[in-house]
Amino acid sequence: MDINNKNIEEIVRKVLEDMTGGAKSAAPAAPAATSSSVAGATIPQKARVAMLVEKERYEIREYPLPPVGDDDILVKVEGCGICGTDAHEFKRDPFNLIPVVLGHEGTGEIVKMGKNVKKDSAGKDLKLGDKVVTCMIFKDNPDITMFDLNKQNVGGADVYGLLPDDDIHFNGWFSDYLLVRGGSTIFNVSDLDLSSRILIEPCAVLVHAVERAKSTGILRFNSRVVVQGCGPIGLICIAVLRTMGIEHITAVDGEPKRLEFAKQMGADRSVNFKEYKGIENLAKAVEDTFDGHLADFAFQCTGSPAAHSNIYKFVRNGGGLCELGFFINGGDATINPHFDICSKELTMVGSWVYTLRDYATTFDFLKRAKGIGLPIDKLITHTFPLEQINEAHQTNLRMEGLKIAIINK
Ligand SMILES: [Zn+2]
Repeated sequence: MDINNKNIEEIVRKVLEDMTGGAKSAAPAAPAATSSSVAGATIPQKARVAMLVEKERYEIREYPLPPVGDDDILVKVEGCGICGTDAHEFKRDPFNLIPVVLGHEGTGEIVKMGKNVKKDSAGKDLKLGDKVVTCMIFKDNPDITMFDLNKQNVGGADVYGLLPDDDIHFNGWFSDYLLVRGGSTIFNVSDLDLSSRILIEPCAVLVHAVERAKSTGILRFNSRVVVQGCGPIGLICIAVLRTMGIEHITAVDGEPKRLEFAKQMGADRSVNFKEYKGIENLAKAVEDTFDGHLADFAFQCTGSPAAHSNIYKFVRNGGGLCELGFFINGGDATINPHFDICSKELTMVGSWVYTLRDYATTFDFLKRAKGIGLPIDKLITHTFPLEQINEAHQTNLRMEGLKIAIINK
């Protein structure tokens, strides 16, 4: 039988459409008499959202809860992490979304669902009371599927928490409720605790980065790996590497506290770059942590152009490098093509966001990380109730903690 790639893609698309009720039903449908809701649970007439109404100012607003169509799911929000993207939008509105309900690292419980909703995007059953997360919304690009690892990442696709405001209003996770419309990806993650569920989205970024790194063929069990930058991204990077069995990990950062945490997350050595003058001395310090060897592979997890320039010096001839720190444009960096790339025969990959498959892989990563005792929960250093969302964002801007989350009662 001649099943070529195209046929498989067609089948996958058909299956996904059946599961999600079709990408075209993203518009709100009329309330369905047959939609079910949690027995005994009262769903209020009105609920709150945190609307970013101008730069650096959220307003708590109340709106009537929208009708739940046959393909829709109403989720009661339990919590949502504040992402770097939210911080940028809060401070400068670069995406031009104001007024907007932000929050895409959220999770909650299904309290009502339309009669057509049966399974999540991975084929798992969905029922009232299940804990869920959303990923992207299949709107105008059905080519993004979770079944093909080589498909593009979800960058540029729509996600709840980065949608323009509309008549529904419950479009982001910084709210009491979220209306998940038919055609969205949703995952049943009832077997993960609240902190793990809040950390799924940032962790998926690292699962993807490590998949990208593995594509070079250089990253192996016994590799010596350097991770530069110990913010949430670098720390999770270390945890992902550790859960896959890599033991020789050196963390590089300028904050002793973060380097200490990097060790709890699985780094066995660390280098405080502030203690070394000049890149030669810094590279030597990294080399010393590997008993006189440069790294086989390096992950660059800061948004600093100078850090990008430095990272090449930590890698051995024939080694590899994954750049994932520039989630947004952070400016140009200087490199020396001869020394840094050619004569070194360096293999480099870039990484940005994740695929749907990486998202689903992340659920297992979180269980494995807990299983080997990595304190993933400790990444959430501050929590605030929804009504203190302005304060939560200001705390985030002051970079006082690692991951800051809004937790609903
Ligand atoms: Zn995010």
